[in-house]
Amino acid sequence: MLTRRAALAGVLVLSIPVAHEGAAGAEDLVAIRAGRLVDVEKGEVRRDQVLIVRGEKIEAIQPGSASVPAGAKVVDLSRYTVLPGLIDCHTHLVGDIQSAGATAPLEHSAAQDAFLGARNARDTLLAGFTTVRDVGTYRLFVDVALRDAINEGTILGPRMAVATTYITRSAGAGDLTGLPPDLVLPKDFRAGVANSAAEVRQRVRELINGGADFIKIMATGAVLARGNEPGAVEFSEEEMRAAVEEAARFGARVTAHAHGAEGIKNAVRAGVQSIEHGSLIDDEAIALMKERGTYLVADIYNGDYIATVGKAQGWPEEYLRKNDETTDAQRQGFRKAVAAGVKIAYGTDAGVYPHGWNARQLPYMVRYGLTPMGAIQAATREAARNIGWEDRLGSLAPGKLADVIAVEGDALEDLSRFASVPFVMKGGRIVKQP
Ligand SMILES: [Zn+2]
Repeated sequence: MLTRRAALAGVLVLSIPVAHEGAAGAEDLVAIRAGRLVDVEKGEVRRDQVLIVRGEKIEAIQPGSASVPAGAKVVDLSRYTVLPGLIDCHTHLVGDIQSAGATAPLEHSAAQDAFLGARNARDTLLAGFTTVRDVGTYRLFVDVALRDAINEGTILGPRMAVATTYITRSAGAGDLTGLPPDLVLPKDFRAGVANSAAEVRQRVRELINGGADFIKIMATGAVLARGNEPGAVEFSEEEMRAAVEEAARFGARVTAHAHGAEGIKNAVRAGVQSIEHGSLIDDEAIALMKERGTYLVADIYNGDYIATVGKAQGWPEEYLRKNDETTDAQRQGFRKAVAAGVKIAYGTDAGVYPHGWNARQLPYMVRYGLTPMGAIQAATREAARNIGWEDRLGSLAPGKLADVIAVEGDALEDLSRFASVPFVMKGGRIVKQP
């Protein structure tokens, strides 16, 4: 219990600026004066601009000298850098921080998981992440309910694309391993288990029917799971191709959890949209991803969290060992992938570490090869493309949804400033302001 309280304390510390939250509701017409405005499509920063927001969309971007439309509520962010809302392509909003090992997913009811999810969603949005691709839960469909509650305006949170549960082989990276072998779990804890291409197809249909926006499939073993190794292949290329084909019939994409090089290559050849983690990637896998246009979503921050906080909290030895074996390798692989021109989308595995800390990975991505603008693009334009929502999100442009954040001063000078985002607008509604 101590570990959970410590993790919660971390979350609460980060959600201090509640005083202004919701201070302003939806306005019909807002003019945001931006000292600096980041155009992630062109990769440039423009000085002294005004962003006109009407209803939930961006109407225009004009020079600061142009007149503001009559009746507009003016928000003065002339001391700030204004950017599109950030997007994290790898979160787990439902339930508590993953820490205690095998039995952790069994310690809460579905209702408790949902309320924890509501808290996590709020912390994520107030940290400037207006959209997430939530890549799976152990308990089926709680993420679907969370997404829908946010969309209906019942609770505050980011736009969510959800995977529901993981498609995994028995005792694989997405199964609940490490439990007594004779323990029979309710169906919704093992709804993603499949052991043939035909079963994979069946799971894809069931998950999409239940509300999944996309599919997450486990190509290799995992770091934070018992009894399997990150480097080991799990599903075959044929089984993952079955997932890709079946999901495509519903217009849905597939992303693959893959640490080991063989598993990455199997998934890329099977046609997945993106590779999660990519920790033990090799040159051949990098070349293949570049050729196929497969996105890499590498969570290169949280290895430090696990090695320090996880160790201090007494996470299982097996998790700590596998974390040590993958952390630096992943960062070196990331650097090579960036140099080779592999598409990079921002994803952090928030849920392994406290929600709302999502921006802590931005400076790591610069340390391992991206430019500051490249890191911002990975968390906006590229992340929107990876989800398939680039028609509505990912940049500040007329016609797009008004998901807007601001960071003090010249934000690109030091990406650690994104740890505190004082202004957040989602769909034209100001949810936080200085
Ligand atoms: Zn994850």
